[in-house]
Amino acid sequence: MAKLTVSDLELQGKKVLMRVDFNVPIKDGVIGNDNRIVAALPTIKYVVEHGGKAILLSHLGRVKTEDDKPGLSMRPVAERLSNLLNKPVTFVPTTEGKQLEDAIDGLNDGDVLVMENTRYEDVKDGKYVKRESGNDPELGKYWASLGDVFVNDAFGTAHRSHASNVGIASNMTQTAAGFLMEKEIKFIGGAVDNPEHPFVAILGGAKVSDKIGVIDNLLSKADKVLIGGGMTYTFYAAKGMKIGNSLVEKDKIDLAKEILDKAGDKLVLPEDSVVAEKFDNDAPHKTVEGDVPDGYMALDIGPKSIKTFEDVLKTAKTVVWNGPMGVFEMSNYAEGTLEIGKFLGTLSDAKTIVGGGDSTAAVQQLGVADKLSHISTGGGASLEYLEGKTLPGIAAISDK
Ligand code: AMP
Repeated sequence: MAKLTVSDLELQGKKVLMRVDFNVPIKDGVIGNDNRIVAALPTIKYVVEHGGKAILLSHLGRVKTEDDKPGLSMRPVAERLSNLLNKPVTFVPTTEGKQLEDAIDGLNDGDVLVMENTRYEDVKDGKYVKRESGNDPELGKYWASLGDVFVNDAFGTAHRSHASNVGIASNMTQTAAGFLMEKEIKFIGGAVDNPEHPFVAILGGAKVSDKIGVIDNLLSKADKVLIGGGMTYTFYAAKGMKIGNSLVEKDKIDLAKEILDKAGDKLVLPEDSVVAEKFDNDAPHKTVEGDVPDGYMALDIGPKSIKTFEDVLKTAKTVVWNGPMGVFEMSNYAEGTLEIGKFLGTLSDAKTIVGGGDSTAAVQQLGVADKLSHISTGGGASLEYLEGKTLPGIAAISDK
């Protein structure tokens, strides 16, 4: 069933609790990259423009001791948000109590308030009590009592059951998705539940073990699953091929065999690789077909594989990509990843969905990100979503 979204809510004069993802890189109080704050602006502006009082909660980093707190304050984030919105933002340096409650009571329609890092609640009186990340029922109930409606726009934490997402939602009559969350549900959820065919998945990255759930789930949904990256060579080993010194998970070879048997020709492995003498950009390297020769390690897919993958992709109507095709951090082994990213940018008839830090970095570096349908904002959350798991943060959003 479709989920309630912020545009379904009556917001005028309401205290709107909003779980956003302001988990930005921060060092000595200086924000390294404010992409996540910028990404949250559409939902915040919508609430403000519709007369809601926006009360924002987010976690920032991991708080395990009292000493972690000062460096992980939300104050610089609130200041940046104020600059981006071009209006005052009230920052409350606490997560509960009279100061917070009074500040909320003092809000006018259209005002914005940011409370302190929700993970400050993980440490109380010097003890690591995990009230936020352990979803303490009293904490969720308390935060819920501060608002009239709840908007969850933090997809990055949707795979976790925390007080600030699931805890609040379970104490509210209405929980809606923000626009970012709505887009994740539409594209990733849509691809997994109801894809337009042909549906092609491209899965790369270092290890089979990290992606096994995704491979399994997508083999049952997709028409083709293209494999690249380091995990290729565990599959090669399972087929009895030579892998030289390539990355391999020996304890996953049997599993890889099972997958190959089950998948038949649905699973497509690279037919050639760029192989190098050492894990080094400047090491002697060459392209080989099939077996990886002794003394070499495979660090990228080769040109024939790129061509084969593109042939499969060109008729696709839905494409999901997660994980690089090679060691794309080194320029000599980046071509597979960059060519696939570039090609996705040309598929104007397909829904193209990219998840995972490395694939996202690749499409951004190529400048094709805005040609794609959706770039996921959540690493762990998007993988679990692709595995077909129910994400507690999404399950807790009200149905329409
Ligand atoms: P993951 O976090 O599982 O998505 O893996 C990403 C990492 O896998 C990147 O840092 C890549 O450099 C690495 N990687 C991709 N292909 C290979 C390969 N053939 N051999 C070793 N590492 C690889």
